Amino acid sequence: MQLARRIRQIPPSATLALNTKANQLKAQGVDVVNFGVGEPDFDTPANIREAAIKAIKDGFTRYTPVGGIPELKEAIIRHCQENYGLAYQPGEVLVSCGGKHSLYNLFQVIFDAGDEVIIPAPFWVSYPPMVMLADATPVVVPTRQENGFKLTAQELRERITPKTKALILNSPSNPTGMVYSRQELEALGEVVLEKGLYVVSDDIYDRILFDGARFCNIAMLSPELKARTFVLNGVSKTYAMTGWRIGYMAGPQDGVAAATKLQSQSTSNPTSIAQKAAVEALNGPQDTVAAMVKEFAWRRDDILRRSLEIPGVTCPKPGGAFYLFPNFSAYYSKLKPAAGQSHSGALAEYLLNEASLAAVPGAEFGEDNCLRFSYATSRERIATGLDRIKEALGKLG
Ligand code: PMP
Ligand code: GLU
Repeated sequence: MQLARRIRQIPPSATLALNTKANQLKAQGVDVVNFGVGEPDFDTPANIREAAIKAIKDGFTRYTPVGGIPELKEAIIRHCQENYGLAYQPGEVLVSCGGKHSLYNLFQVIFDAGDEVIIPAPFWVSYPPMVMLADATPVVVPTRQENGFKLTAQELRERITPKTKALILNSPSNPTGMVYSRQELEALGEVVLEKGLYVVSDDIYDRILFDGARFCNIAMLSPELKARTFVLNGVSKTYAMTGWRIGYMAGPQDGVAAATKLQSQSTSNPTSIAQKAAVEALNGPQDTVAAMVKEFAWRRDDILRRSLEIPGVTCPKPGGAFYLFPNFSAYYSKLKPAAGQSHSGALAEYLLNEASLAAVPGAEFGEDNCLRFSYATSRERIATGLDRIKEALGKLG
């Protein structure tokens, strides 16, 4: 069958593919250490699960308003207002089936053929394909490890053309865990306003921040920047709710209304029961979030220390999320990548075969020198995983 061009041009999600592979090996009895998966290893808190059970018992099982129930929109609006000082009206918020769906909907309604979208690398794997699915052109802009893998105003300015429509920002970042400071965002914000760009601010890791840092996104800097920014978020990471599929966008009303129209012709509302659970997540007790972040911070220190003990490995210290992005290029001369394979792909394959260790090749995120480790796994698995990596790399000679 001749499939449509739009689907032929994109690869499957590398993060999800690696996770499937690791789970298959596990099912075959292989003792895999999985640093591949990007989802919290905690259970959804009990109060949230109870809210969903109550919704079922109450018969809250029918279609809801396309863009989400008013109660959930109110909870999202309160979160944005109380935590970030960002004021939104219900018409400026759309609830969708996960943060991924929110991004997809947004790109479909704000990008056109010929539009260029600036994506700083390393980037989350799904941005370029999603931009291409909207017929627009991803413009990948490499950042420097010495600068914490963060885009500078200068680097942004150099890549802007008359076709540039938007900039995608993701802080804390997947895959690097790096966090933009307010000053760094201010510098980018100046260019954004000067050039009349839109900003897609993917804030999915907003609550997973370490060392007492306070979250800041570009919309918080001025009303002018807020008017050009779409904030994307969801409950997957903060509340360990990856399977529930609730995400949202908040931003300029015309874009949100268009995305709501698209949703009305595609998925309709996100699951009614999951919406009730998300209300409880946002409005209920937040102590589980603090406990999870505390544990992630401990693991961040541990996995960073262990990684830096490996000869030749370098890595900036992440300030949030649950990923480490160490540079293994010192070992690349010892690898023989297959035809068309990246060095990080060859290293990831070697580690999977030699050490039963699953990590995502940096090339999938636009930075071949690194591998991505997700430390959303137990302390014991982190220690085992790093021991195995050290041993396997030692064997490379
Ligand atoms: N953005 C980033 C940077 C992510 O890592 C993820 C997690 N896959 C998402 C968005 C979307 O998450 P979800 O669809 O589970 O809400
Ligand atoms: N965001 C996670 C990751 O990067 C989940 C998988 C995905 O949706 O890409 O691993």
